[in-house]
Amino acid sequence: MSILLRGGDVVSGRGAERLDVLLEGEKIAAVGADLGAGEGEVVDCTGKLLFPGFIDGHTHFDLEVGGTITADDFATGSRAALRGGTTTVIDFAAPDKGEPLAAGLARWREKAVGKCACDYGFHMTIDDWNEGICREIGEMAEEGITSFKMYMTYPAMMIGEGEMYRALLRLKEAGGVAGVHCENDGVIRELVRAARAAGRMSPGSHPRTRPAPLEAEAVGHLLRLAQLADAPVIIVHLSCRESMEEVRAARRRGQRVYVETCPHYLLLEDGGYDDPDYMAAAKLVCAPPLRKAEDRAALWAALAGGEIDTVATDHCSFTTAQKRAGRYDFTKIPGGLPGVEHRGVLLYTHGVAAGRITPADMCRVLCENPAKLYGCWPRKGCIAPGGDGDIVVYDPAARGVITAADQAQNTDYTPYEGMETAGAVARVYLRGRLAADRGRVLETQGQFIRRGPCAL
Ligand code: MN
Repeated sequence: MSILLRGGDVVSGRGAERLDVLLEGEKIAAVGADLGAGEGEVVDCTGKLLFPGFIDGHTHFDLEVGGTITADDFATGSRAALRGGTTTVIDFAAPDKGEPLAAGLARWREKAVGKCACDYGFHMTIDDWNEGICREIGEMAEEGITSFKMYMTYPAMMIGEGEMYRALLRLKEAGGVAGVHCENDGVIRELVRAARAAGRMSPGSHPRTRPAPLEAEAVGHLLRLAQLADAPVIIVHLSCRESMEEVRAARRRGQRVYVETCPHYLLLEDGGYDDPDYMAAAKLVCAPPLRKAEDRAALWAALAGGEIDTVATDHCSFTTAQKRAGRYDFTKIPGGLPGVEHRGVLLYTHGVAAGRITPADMCRVLCENPAKLYGCWPRKGCIAPGGDGDIVVYDPAARGVITAADQAQNTDYTPYEGMETAGAVARVYLRGRLAADRGRVLETQGQFIRRGPCAL
């Protein structure tokens, strides 16, 4: 059974071209002008943009955080992803301290297998360091896991300076790459102590105890360790102008630094934390926190200038009831925002339709770059013969409004409530099968994607 997507504008990182796309089985069989359909179904895509399925390299489904579990598991999170055009997510497997990496991987496989409706992979979290873990990093590559995560904040996740340096050396040797959460933990803890002592326990203290210079300091700090180790690194969820400056300085030194940012840093600001409605402010708590207008502007400029490699969501969703656990103590608000469903339409609306970036730029940061960075190119991330039949049919003429009432994410709010959208995801194909049709999510089965080395 084949499907011919006829007459759409096929987007790549180089531009858009009016071409037909023939899907056969799970694969893209042909891309060209005036392809014949044979016996198969023909879908008129006139006036539509055809993107490769979006890849979200940063989600947290079914994750325990601060005594609760994210509202989205792999079943609901993956369906929300598909509804918004994301056909592959890369989540984070995390062993508990003292466990081998393999134990973390086994646990996350169990969470995802049979439940995840879109394709998926895992980054492996390194939150401990010993000889066993050092050895296991090589074994992870055989499991198709080539990207890792380290933390410079959250004492439960940190491994220490020398260990981080050793991990960078080991990853380089094994052909892996690490994404790092950069914030200066010690000073954040001091600022939290001072806020507590002053009785300032509302969400307004959240951005004030995690200010931009403490992110930039950690980015610069990490990049000097990476310079010494001569290892590539990914700055995940980069949120502010000063961090971008640290990245530029390292790139000028010749370092390989990859940058990820998130829709909330491009679109939202820290003013919301001072909302007198405690819960309205609590719903915006995430780390790093939302920043200022000048940071947003700097991120858009960096995105348009090709300095940001990928836009991922850091989807980590909680319901209002879960966020309420942090009432009267901002440090107990579960941190994270929903977003896996809306990344594509947000980037199109505020990026492409607003004239800040082109469809090709959007394709690079949502498709090509994450596929290359995370070692699944060209199976994923491009519309070319032989690749997986993952396609987003985007209707730029549609108009919509983002609301919690109309979302598949398993939470009762969205930080983008009421935002008007330019265009909409009309249809989504996952490995040659229709997975979402104008907001209706169909039954599909996700596949674990074994990934190779970074190719960006
Ligand atoms: Mn995260």
